[in-house]
Amino acid sequence: MNVCKVICVRFKATGYKGRHKYEDGQKLCSICAEFLKCSEIRCPCCSVKLRCTPRGNQSRKEIHEKRKAVWH
Ligand SMILES: [Zn+2]
Ligand SMILES: [Zn+2]
Repeated sequence: MNVCKVICVRFKATGYKGRHKYEDGQKLCSICAEFLKCSEIRCPCCSVKLRCTPRGNQSRKEIHEKRKAVWH
């Protein structure tokens, strides 16, 4: 089972270069609902596979929704 262990706070990306976060090598964890700056394929926190490509407006909306629901 994949749960957020709050380890991701150490990998949490702050700011980004380029047009969007993915362009700067940041990856999205759907469990932690955070963009992480790491070279791993899987989240160092919850070991779920990280998303490294954008999916358009719909997904961005989702991300914002999730982010509002999670701690900051
Ligand atoms: Zn996490
Ligand atoms: Zn995670």
